[in-house]
Amino acid sequence: MDGKSTEHEENHYDKVSSIQLLNERLDLTLAFSKRYQMSSAVCYLRIFLPPELSQPKDNDTETILLNKISARLYGSLRDIDTVIKVNSTDFMIVIADITEHDCKEICERIIHSISAPYPIDFHNFTIGSSMGICMYPYGSEEPVELKTMAKIQMYDAQELGENCFSFYKGNLNQTAYRKVIIENDLPYALKKGELYVHYQPQYFLKERAINGAEALIRWSHPSLGEVSPGEFISYAEEAGMLNGLFFWVFEEVCQKMSSMKDRSLKYSINLSVNQLLLDSLILDISNILKRYSIQAAQITLEITENIEIYTVKKVNEKLHFLKEMGFTIALDDFGNGYFSFSDFIKLPIDFIKLDRDFVFSLLKNNKHKGVIMPIIQMAHNLELQVIIEGIEDHTQFAEWVKLDCDLIQGYFISEPISFEELTEWIAEIENRVALGFSVNELQ
Ligand code: C2E
Ligand code: MG
Ligand code: MG
Repeated sequence: MDGKSTEHEENHYDKVSSIQLLNERLDLTLAFSKRYQMSSAVCYLRIFLPPELSQPKDNDTETILLNKISARLYGSLRDIDTVIKVNSTDFMIVIADITEHDCKEICERIIHSISAPYPIDFHNFTIGSSMGICMYPYGSEEPVELKTMAKIQMYDAQELGENCFSFYKGNLNQTAYRKVIIENDLPYALKKGELYVHYQPQYFLKERAINGAEALIRWSHPSLGEVSPGEFISYAEEAGMLNGLFFWVFEEVCQKMSSMKDRSLKYSINLSVNQLLLDSLILDISNILKRYSIQAAQITLEITENIEIYTVKKVNEKLHFLKEMGFTIALDDFGNGYFSFSDFIKLPIDFIKLDRDFVFSLLKNNKHKGVIMPIIQMAHNLELQVIIEGIEDHTQFAEWVKLDCDLIQGYFISEPISFEELTEWIAEIENRVALGFSVNELQ
């Protein structure tokens, strides 16, 4: 270390030291409980901060509020109990020498005390919370298991509604269990080689050929099996892991591309607003491109449509810079988020990717064609191309070909497959899709 510790390192240090303290106190409590045959409780508490504090980030008020919450927590417990803040919204509490019956009363007291209004700067903030509890020794005798079960029960309590608590009784809530395992194991997944990338072909209608593929991250978990990014991307984002995953996917794609003599396919990579806010983004991706001799023009960056794209200056500037570097830019899940026409026409984009909901909407109500057609027309008038994703069968394929889409992506063309399968199966996929054009309705 050069002596200049960054804020990130300090936070990491705080986190490590508080977890160490929690483990020491828990071990001590369990040793006493065992020696004197007492029961104890491990509780996992999550608080829900009011949305007005998170956007824009109001750190001062948040700190005052968190201090007040901690004070109320300590006020509800005895000196022999332990309260440790494990992250910005979560606390672990170890209650020594307590029966389940008395613990219920304490949980009620804690939740009730936290939910009372907090007057700060002429505002009355209210905080909701959920709490999960695992008792020693009935729930478990193992410290790690006690903590995990308490967290799983916290998710179970969340399902019951706001300001509820739930005790572990030996029957696991499978959804809550999966969530906790995912959160616990994701930080190690990359190092353990459990992540990989699959590629979903994109079919260019004008040329009746596959001209690109979207890189989609996959996680093969040792006990949960395949975990879809839908289940872990939002958690990775919250936990600040998505930047690392983005660079990993970016490098993985570049490396695979560099292994090919034929460089005619374009590859799409997903990124989120947080990556666009990174100061080092341009330098880091330029270095990767250089390392594998890849041109930016061979890559499409897919960014999900949301309010920050339109409103945050730094995000908008970064998009312009990436476009100038030669990347193709696609606006992903278009039609599913915030839309501002005057800002939209200024965006430096090449594609809009219509959200899968458009496919459902057309399926449910044919009248929606009258709304979808002008959107495609508008994009074409602005010299943007249109991709529809989530096309699963021939009927949908035929419908969207008629709607004058430019590119089609979905299980009808192919599911996401490995890089090797993609390069091997292109001709086969193209031949199969070509048959789709010869069916009567498309003549
Ligand atoms: P997305 O970028 O909109 O990706 C399309 C999703 O639709 C993929 O799900 C794909 O497998 C799925 N899909 C494609 N065709 C069909 C179809 O015909 N029917 C159905 N039912 N689904 C189809 P996946 O792979 O689970 O990814 C979900 C989302 O996770 C992605 O949505 C993207 O937002 C995010 N994601 C995936 N990989 C990455 C990544 O490397 N980085 C980031 N930041 N996000 C990623
Ligand atoms: Mg995408
Ligand atoms: Mg999408």
